[in-house]
Amino acid sequence: MSRQGEQAAVIGAGMAGLLAARVLADAFDEVTVIEKDTFPDEASPRRGVPQGRHIHVMLEAGRSTLEDLFPGFRRDFLSAGGLEIDAARDVKFYAEGDFLAEGPHYLPHYAATRPLYEQLVRRNVSRLDGVTVRQGCRSVDYRIDETATTVEGVSFTNEQATVEELDTSLVVDATGRTSRTPAWLKRHGYTPPPVDEVYIDLAYSTLLLQRPPEDHRSFITTPSSSNPRAAGVLPVEGDRWVVTVAGVHGDHPPTDIDGFTEFASNLPAPDLEGLLEDHPRASDEIAHYPFPTNLRHRYEDLDHFPEGLVVIGDAIASFNPLYGQGMSVAALEAVLLHHILATGRLSDIGLRFFVRSTDVVDIAWMMAVGADFRFPQTTGPKPRSTDLTSRYLSRLNRKAHTDGVLRDAFMRVLMMERPPTTLFHPKIVWRVLKPTR
Ligand SMILES: Cc1cc2nc3c(=O)[nH]c(=O)nc-3n(C[C@H](O)[C@H](O)[C@H](O)COP(=O)(O)OP(=O)(O)OC[C@H]3O[C@@H](n4cnc5c(N)ncnc54)[C@H](O)[C@@H]3O)c2cc1C
Repeated sequence: MSRQGEQAAVIGAGMAGLLAARVLADAFDEVTVIEKDTFPDEASPRRGVPQGRHIHVMLEAGRSTLEDLFPGFRRDFLSAGGLEIDAARDVKFYAEGDFLAEGPHYLPHYAATRPLYEQLVRRNVSRLDGVTVRQGCRSVDYRIDETATTVEGVSFTNEQATVEELDTSLVVDATGRTSRTPAWLKRHGYTPPPVDEVYIDLAYSTLLLQRPPEDHRSFITTPSSSNPRAAGVLPVEGDRWVVTVAGVHGDHPPTDIDGFTEFASNLPAPDLEGLLEDHPRASDEIAHYPFPTNLRHRYEDLDHFPEGLVVIGDAIASFNPLYGQGMSVAALEAVLLHHILATGRLSDIGLRFFVRSTDVVDIAWMMAVGADFRFPQTTGPKPRSTDLTSRYLSRLNRKAHTDGVLRDAFMRVLMMERPPTTLFHPKIVWRVLKPTR
């Protein structure tokens, strides 16, 4: 990677911001990450990332990319208490009326809380030459040149609550779903990106349970038009399970333990009731998170965008979290940013990155939104051939109740390891469409 400039800034030290900082460190002398929160000493949730209290599944695309970006990540992860389980056998996966058969091949699957992933990535990034992570600093504005064509820096309130300015060759906005870049573009005479919003009216409730160290049970139940409820149970560090129940289109889980247990009893996961009965709680509160819509800013459709600025992660698109894609999409986008930087020029970096990132965002969006349109109440722009694909996937899942090869093919696509086209390989299509005896 050739040197691209002296100073880059990343706003937001969530997963997308930290992973962007990792790739920028190869191209800039200094990379400053500006984060409004202060970081807890423990791997515990923080205010700026409220979703950190809820189950976070790391897909294979994210798992393997973390290892690429931080060689030895697995060792750090396991020694910090994270678990590696087998997604083919340890994870019981319920879809279309039953659990899927076990898969034939080992699929490594990390299991940990979201704060642990973030803490480990933050540690790795903070160790890189030239990277400074500034906590307790809130970005307030981009600095733009007189012709309003180039972002030349960022201003932020610093640790002493005074305004500080930083000159940059590149700013990366990784402030998440509430990113203010669209409003800022409008204020400076640019057209903001068109927005796709797909309404799903989802909510999560989550608690932690104590777990016997050797018990790695994990299960996921997906919602269907006959039951809008879902659940995810994952063994995590500290001998705990994170237990999330969720419901779409207004069937929201309560935040008191009796209501939570009652909600869980209407899920097709008999183990879940047993877990709640047999294991003491490891958290006092039940965390709640409403998630009304999948939200996508189509930056790739813009003709004009300032030089010196890129947007990444949830600030581009945030997907129904039931499909566990956000951290992995952020990781894949960081790799794409690396490739863009490796071209050796910064001009048009924003637009070039947005067009390139559609390779990743389109797939995640199609999978999440496509599944959401199984509910007649879902509204918003519907991707082409959604209904046909849904019918095919629904049949594939039913066949996978007894066919581990189909489970394997499906899980690898869900985990963003393989592209969805692999589900249309003749050998898979044959298994899906052949008549059931
Ligand atoms: C309920 C829920 C469950 C989820 N489950 C999963 C899952 O199972 N698997 C998965 O991969 N993904 C999941 N996600 C998505 C995942 O959390 C995100 O996609 C992923 O973390 C990437 O987010 P991000 O870094 O872009 O933004 P965020 O995580 O929102 O981080 C933004 C950061 O920017 C900081 N910030 C904001 N404004 C400023 C400012 N002005 N100045 C300085 N700092 C600022 C914030 O404090 C924060 O640290 C889930 C999301 C939700 C809501």
